[in-house]
Amino acid sequence: MLLSDFDGWWLDTRCGCGRSTQIPIRMLLREWRRETDIGQIARRLRCRGCGARPASTELVDDIQAGAKGYAGGGPVQRIKV
Ligand SMILES: [Zn+2]
Repeated sequence: MLLSDFDGWWLDTRCGCGRSTQIPIRMLLREWRRETDIGQIARRLRCRGCGARPASTELVDDIQAGAKGYAGGGPVQRIKV
């Protein structure tokens, strides 16, 4: 899973402490080479609240789909990293 294949997607991480963080792939593309494996990036992520590794990390194609009042789009794709 290369970073460049998921431009426009988001990384959705959840930590055991309850904090969740959404990171746009577009932002990661500024810091990492396009052919970087996403798993490699996910392994380096740490929770900003407690410093632990996230309990789960998923790729999501549309982060707004779960938001209140969202009306558009098809089913959301989620891929476990
Ligand atoms: Zn945490």
